[in-house]
Amino acid sequence: MQWHGNNYNWRAGEAGNRLTGEPANPRLIQSPLMFPRAAALLVAVVLSQGQAAPRQVSLIVTNATVVTMDAASRVLTAGAVAIDGRDIVAVDTAAAIASAYRAADTIDGGGDVVMPGLINTHTHAPMVLYRGLADDLALMDWLQKYIFPAEAKTVTPEFVRAGTRLAVLEMIRSGTTTYVDMYYFEEEIARVTRAAGMRAVLGQTIIQFPVPDAKTPEEGLARTERFIREFASDPLIVPAIAPHAMYTLDAATLRSVRQLADRDRVPVIIHLAETGSEVRTAAEQHKATPVGYLDSLGFFGPRTLGAHGVHLTPADIDILKKRGVGISHNPESNMKLASGTAPVPALRQAQVPVGLGTDGAASNNDLDMFESMRQAALLHKLVSNDPRTLPAADVLAMATREGARAIGMDREIGSLEPGKRADLILVGMSSARQTPMYDPLSHLVYASRGDDVRTTIVNGKVLMRERKVLTLQEPAILAEARKIAGQVGKAVGR
Ligand SMILES: [Zn+2]
Repeated sequence: MQWHGNNYNWRAGEAGNRLTGEPANPRLIQSPLMFPRAAALLVAVVLSQGQAAPRQVSLIVTNATVVTMDAASRVLTAGAVAIDGRDIVAVDTAAAIASAYRAADTIDGGGDVVMPGLINTHTHAPMVLYRGLADDLALMDWLQKYIFPAEAKTVTPEFVRAGTRLAVLEMIRSGTTTYVDMYYFEEEIARVTRAAGMRAVLGQTIIQFPVPDAKTPEEGLARTERFIREFASDPLIVPAIAPHAMYTLDAATLRSVRQLADRDRVPVIIHLAETGSEVRTAAEQHKATPVGYLDSLGFFGPRTLGAHGVHLTPADIDILKKRGVGISHNPESNMKLASGTAPVPALRQAQVPVGLGTDGAASNNDLDMFESMRQAALLHKLVSNDPRTLPAADVLAMATREGARAIGMDREIGSLEPGKRADLILVGMSSARQTPMYDPLSHLVYASRGDDVRTTIVNGKVLMRERKVLTLQEPAILAEARKIAGQVGKAVGR
């Protein structure tokens, strides 16, 4: 992974990401009627010039509306994507791809949408096993009466493996191809994720009090070092370090986290300015905002992702911008726990990269990124009293290329462009709910949901084909989760 390379250009931005040989005008929509003629013309040219034989590749996804999410936000109708091994080699019209490439395997898009896989920038994957355990409670009641006791009594490596299998199954089925996690026993999460073929940035949690996988923060840091070594050169897993929050760690541990992250060149993921109570703690104990306090410790580096960023001042946003920190926006969790509304338009205006996330399923209660996109678009229109706020194209960018920027992976994922990893999804667009379709971007945000995803591809490998997940045993995973739910219920007296 380029995370660990010397030549890695952190958040290089989106310049220079255009596909070769294609018109640059935004949102180019080409009529399908043009293609038979174009194809015939191309065949004639090939025959007359005796052009070289088509290049053999591993997979072609064709006959689809290709929403590239590239810098020009191009959309190709009757488009296609050629994939060889882990990489995208070409994105073009179906006719152009058909004439230049031959594939061992071809997926017919049937006129549906092909787009980059969604990037969920904040999860606690195994918490799917607490889905619906307790809802409609004040945050502290929810945490102290249900979540913390349940975690203390039930989180084991076995629980984490079962929960991650269920979470990864749900994510593959709803079009997420990369997720950013923070939890305990993160090495177990990494092994399950790798076996399922998904991509992830996985942060081992560091916290001041005893937790299921570490009695002290020192033990947590030692576990993190082992975790980083095990996955340092993995093609799918980026190991990271996840200090829980400024209010659950002392200054010395927060400084140690930054040192370890700099030494091993790994990302840092932290809950940041999530609630009013966090802001009050920072003010009382440090006479600063959470962002101001962490900055005074030298905590922020360019490989840092703050989850939530709900309570931010303009000065905080300046610091985030200056330090190159990304933000994960989690509208459903923030609404369900009544945490507040993150200043997403102001962050984006300041060019702080903002990705979208679901947060753990215990506060959402699912991992469907289509739902997150829709809720983000609606929430910010309501709060700003302006329906022009966060249009569909911007929300789609947050779920794809901006999310990639927020986690420093925009050179590898986040858009459909030659040279990037082949992480893409085919989204059905033919249901009653999606008919008629004037604008695929509008439908992706306002009318589609995770269940509409037909096929999910990560690193060039098909993980789900026509709704059948190929890398996981679905019935066994569901049965296992139901069994564990019985133990969880007993642990909290339900
Ligand atoms: Zn969280």
